[in-house]
Amino acid sequence: MFFFFTCGTHIFTSRLKGYENVTVQCQNCGNMSGRVYKRWEWFTFCFIPIVPFSFKPWREVGCHICNFYQDIKYRPDVQNHLGQGQGLPMHNYGPPSGHGGQHQFK
Ligand SMILES: [Zn+2]
Repeated sequence: MFFFFTCGTHIFTSRLKGYENVTVQCQNCGNMSGRVYKRWEWFTFCFIPIVPFSFKPWREVGCHICNFYQDIKYRPDVQNHLGQGQGLPMHNYGPPSGHGGQHQFK
């Protein structure tokens, strides 16, 4: 008699609530292709999810172009999107450099 039990893992992936319309820049390839996902890995026995690996799902920023996934805790700019509603974040390029005014041609 030979029994063969299949064990493995299954990862549930879905868009994170509140971030469905949020697209951010991928820090790996630089494209504006980063989406916020909820990923939850479960231990499966005979293809049936039995025990979750972690208590809570991971919140990650995923890129469909380069398949780069990054924990959302490293992306404070993404978390700022929630609750802000519409509007692009303001980019601060620093104070304008002083130009002219010092040269006098006499
Ligand atoms: Zn990417």
